[in-house]
Amino acid sequence: MEMDTGDTTDVIVVGCGIIGASVAWQLARRGAVVRCLDPHPGDGSTYAAAGMLAAVTETTFGEHELMRLNLEAAAMWPDFATQLEAETGQPCGLRRTGTLTLAFDGDDRQQLRRLHQLHVEWGLDAREITTDAARQMEPTLGPRLAAAIWAPGDHQVDPRSAQKALLTALMARKVDIIERAVERVLPGTAVTGPSRPGVVDTNGQVHRADLVVVAAGWNSRLLAPGCPTRPVKGQVARLDARAVPTFQLTRVVRGLVQDRPVYLVPRADGEIVVGGTSEEQPDNRQVTAGGAFALLRDARALVPGIDELPVTELTARARPGSPDNLPLIGDAGPPGIVLATGHYRNGVLLAPLTAAAVAARWADGKLPDSVSAAHPARFHPTHDHEHFAVP
Ligand SMILES: Cc1cc2nc3c(=O)[nH]c(=O)nc-3n(C[C@H](O)[C@H](O)[C@H](O)COP(=O)(O)OP(=O)(O)OC[C@H]3O[C@@H](n4cnc5c(N)ncnc54)[C@H](O)[C@@H]3O)c2cc1C
Repeated sequence: MEMDTGDTTDVIVVGCGIIGASVAWQLARRGAVVRCLDPHPGDGSTYAAAGMLAAVTETTFGEHELMRLNLEAAAMWPDFATQLEAETGQPCGLRRTGTLTLAFDGDDRQQLRRLHQLHVEWGLDAREITTDAARQMEPTLGPRLAAAIWAPGDHQVDPRSAQKALLTALMARKVDIIERAVERVLPGTAVTGPSRPGVVDTNGQVHRADLVVVAAGWNSRLLAPGCPTRPVKGQVARLDARAVPTFQLTRVVRGLVQDRPVYLVPRADGEIVVGGTSEEQPDNRQVTAGGAFALLRDARALVPGIDELPVTELTARARPGSPDNLPLIGDAGPPGIVLATGHYRNGVLLAPLTAAAVAARWADGKLPDSVSAAHPARFHPTHDHEHFAVP
């Protein structure tokens, strides 16, 4: 039986990963009464993420709009982190390290230079440096390098630290976090009373609010059927550089090794995140022998010294992919349902921008123009509400 809590919540946020938690925090800062539902807050894609704020180095052909969003989000991160750290006393792990991108062989160099040319044409802050100059920056780089690009503005945060700080901030601001999954989203037909939008949780409890924000990662498609998210599996390894005092890596190192992308993200505490595979596979959370082997093989081609580091963790999670790699931020069709999902490779980077946009949607009644390229209506140009109808 479905029981209605009849509460006075302003906004329900479904999913409390880095996107849902950031959205809930910004809403609460603007005075909204917020309730989050998530059976395992922070245990989705956010748990695996390397945390690169790679607005420049992630930019690729055909993604000009995404680049614009990413650059705007990257510029927001320092204030976002400062405010979160000030509210909670907990670190987000923001490190202003810049990013080196390396080519392993001649073919990789050709590809890297082609991409770099695009970055130059689009006015991004990246420049080719000699491999000797790269080695001076990072002495542990391997002997076989064909080219190096330096992107001084591509930094990193630690997603697990940021997520922890966000949950602390939510609790301090009296955001109700209910550790239950949402089974159904109920579109609203009125702005007050029992016809407001809402959700039904796994206990059959109905929660109602003025606005329901669906931020359930790739699972969002199961809650709002017109939402075209899909799981894109990624595997990562975590190494512990503290175990080998002579090993040093300061900057984010990305690379192409015989056409395969790989990255190493060094945290301040000595953890090195090596990632990440990108597989059109379901979210089965299984690390495969082949996936782990390929990651470590390619990472050691660029930084051979990782050979001696203990492997502390192997993790697999699924990114919330979207058909055009842009996120989905905005009204989903049925009244009172807003999507904040589909952030694919850049959800950590895009969290402050998404949160600010959804908070503005609640407080001002409309989304900022800056995120219009991410509006879900691009997949349903006729605004066909039937298409979004929840079963
Ligand atoms: C290997 C890997 C490396 C990555 N590296 C980076 C990076 O360097 N930089 C970057 O910016 N991004 C990176 N990403 C992408 C980034 O992790 C995601 O884009 C981001 O975490 C998406 O956040 P989210 O909150 O939307 O989704 P998630 O973190 O997946 O959170 C979704 C939440 O919804 C909850 N949920 C699901 N179903 C329901 C339901 N029915 N009811 C209630 N709650 C539900 C889940 O429990 C989960 O907590 C990486 C991803 C992977 C996999």
